[in-house]
Amino acid sequence: MNAEKRYEIFSRLRANNPRPTTELNYSSSFELLIAVILSAQATDVGVNKATDKLYPVANTPQEIYDLGVEGLKTYIKTIGLFNSKAENVIKTCRMLLDRHNGEVPQTREALEALPGVGRKTANVVLNTAFGQPTIAVDTHIFRVSNRTGIAKGKNVDEVEKKLIRNVPKEFKLDIHHWLILHGRYTCIARKPRCGSCIIEDLCDFKEKTEI
Ligand code: SF4
Repeated sequence: MNAEKRYEIFSRLRANNPRPTTELNYSSSFELLIAVILSAQATDVGVNKATDKLYPVANTPQEIYDLGVEGLKTYIKTIGLFNSKAENVIKTCRMLLDRHNGEVPQTREALEALPGVGRKTANVVLNTAFGQPTIAVDTHIFRVSNRTGIAKGKNVDEVEKKLIRNVPKEFKLDIHHWLILHGRYTCIARKPRCGSCIIEDLCDFKEKTEI
């Protein structure tokens, strides 16, 4: 796909949703960090249900640490992998208190050193909480990038590298959310809704649907 086509795709996504953001509920960088850790292999809706009960009770590293692993589990037990997530969250809170004064660090290296935080989680936090132009390639972004042809790749690392190279600066901050939302609601995994897709005429996907 050439640069002009990509530019048109990004322009349409921006016109359609000028200020995209995450569907996770949060009111601080710490709340976002914990929500993103909890969201691995879980839906945002499921995570929001749990954090809507957790955060009014505990929404700082000290308060969540004080709940302990078992106490935290009572709030997040409806989320997949909650046992290991509870342990990681408590360890992360301890590390934030010990090393970062209870604040969420703003560098990739420090974020990825936190238990339960990988490259994708770090990218989401850097982008959404701190306004850095990082691109966290999840299953939706991977699929949309490959189907449309804006960044084809065999794995998430390849797609991330191509997106970073191919997305013009003016779109970098928001591309991550536009592609996730497009994948979640239009370019859905099992049956894309090409007939109601705003970039259908620009997309390289060969098996377009009519719905
Ligand atoms: S045209 Fe179809 S395959 Fe292409 S982005 Fe739109 S929904 Fe996805």
